Amino acid sequence: MSEKTIFQKIIDKEIPAEILYEDDLCLAFRDIMPQAPTHFLVIPKKEIVSVNEIEESDATLIGHIFSVIRKLTQDEGIAESGYRVVTNCGTDACQTVPHLHYHVIGGRNMTWPPG
Ligand code: AMP
Repeated sequence: MSEKTIFQKIIDKEIPAEILYEDDLCLAFRDIMPQAPTHFLVIPKKEIVSVNEIEESDATLIGHIFSVIRKLTQDEGIAESGYRVVTNCGTDACQTVPHLHYHVIGGRNMTWPPG
């Protein structure tokens, strides 16, 4: 059996995190190294490595995650000012944790393109 990822350990409450939202399908918590005044992650509880492993049958789950993102951006007060939703997939994109996660970043002006 492969070793648990850090995010699986957060799901299983083996390591602490500042949890913003949780339900049967997903979990949202603040990023430990925030890149902006608001920076949280939303992850499925299902073990999905990255966008590459999303299946057609995950459509409801992924849609639900975006509905949670919308709710949390309102709670965090960044819905109107704007924010970025980022998912890094694979080596070139600097994905460091092999469990699908959506970064939600806001509360400051950003530049484009990303580095
Ligand atoms: P990525 O580089 O896209 O795979 O993003 C992984 C993110 O997880 C980074 O922004 C890290 O700061 C964040 N991270 C790693 N460990 C933890 C943790 N224990 N609690 C919260 N965020 C974490």
